[in-house]
Amino acid sequence: MSKIIEKLKYNIEDFGKTQIFLPDATRGAVRFVTTEQLKSTQTKGVVINTLHLLINIGPEKIMELGGMHRFMNWDGYILSDSGGFQVFSLLHSKKWQGKVDKDGATFRAPIDGTVHRLTPESSIDIQIALDSDVLVVLDDCRSADVTRSDAELSVDRTLQWAYRAKNHFEKKYGGFAKTKKLISAVVQGGSYDDLRIKCAQELVKIGFDGYNFGGFVVDEKGELVKDQLNVVAENTPADRFKYAMGIGKPEDILEAYRLGYNVFDTVLVTRNARHGTLYSFDKEDENYALRIKNSRYNKDLSPIDSTCDCDACKNYSRAYFHNMLKSNEASAVSLMSVHNLRFYQRWIEKISEMEMKA
Ligand SMILES: [Zn+2]
Repeated sequence: MSKIIEKLKYNIEDFGKTQIFLPDATRGAVRFVTTEQLKSTQTKGVVINTLHLLINIGPEKIMELGGMHRFMNWDGYILSDSGGFQVFSLLHSKKWQGKVDKDGATFRAPIDGTVHRLTPESSIDIQIALDSDVLVVLDDCRSADVTRSDAELSVDRTLQWAYRAKNHFEKKYGGFAKTKKLISAVVQGGSYDDLRIKCAQELVKIGFDGYNFGGFVVDEKGELVKDQLNVVAENTPADRFKYAMGIGKPEDILEAYRLGYNVFDTVLVTRNARHGTLYSFDKEDENYALRIKNSRYNKDLSPIDSTCDCDACKNYSRAYFHNMLKSNEASAVSLMSVHNLRFYQRWIEKISEMEMKA
């Protein structure tokens, strides 16, 4: 383990001290983007998906292969989720077979029928085996329209599980001192401010390196749930990182940053690239979106973004991507993904200046 930790390019104690955007490298790859390309976008960290790695490759195999850093040749930060969000939503919606109980969840993976058990302790074991740098403890997440009584239950379980996970991390692995890994908890409570406050304050008593906003960051209209985000930010310590999980749009990242959040991730950045929604500082509108499929770009020889230093903008035109996307050319999709990733890294660098102007 020590060999791989030495490969980390950045100081683990600096994680989340300044704002950071982490693209989604679900199973060890950001879609259509090589690790070298990812480095070229100045990306400092990625999020990996514990559930996908558990059921597709398996944490034992990853550990045998030297952990995720070595596996994907990545020397930036790796943050892993707990696996809970996907499992619980798949079980609650009956898409997967299995059940949730007071200690976690048991479920059957549809790929090969293997039965898995996810508990506060096993989630930590899996994330350690993957050699993630920033762990997230298992929480009890519910649907966006959770009732008051279910939200109360979810907060109680989230607190018990957070306590167990932290305890397991300390006792079995020696905590940060031995592992040089950070551990973060998830604040639940749905749309009930008092429950969010209770959950945040109790988690702070247990003590974590970071606090993640759990549940849904946007409402049914796609609007950021600012009040809830604010309550959680106000009730967690200023010197710990705050992770606004899944906040996607550039302007929403800026809003959340203003509320005190500094760690961000979204699958949108590369998914949008694949569907032809690119981001450009040349666009005057508030969301900076440039829809490359639009016929106006058919013969447009300007770059996607005249201020961007990525491979796509330095070497190709809007017309190129417009015409390549018609046949879904893989290398063009790859370049557009690189561009969007670079845009998000530039955005995340800029937001502290924008904050000062606001
Ligand atoms: Zn670019």
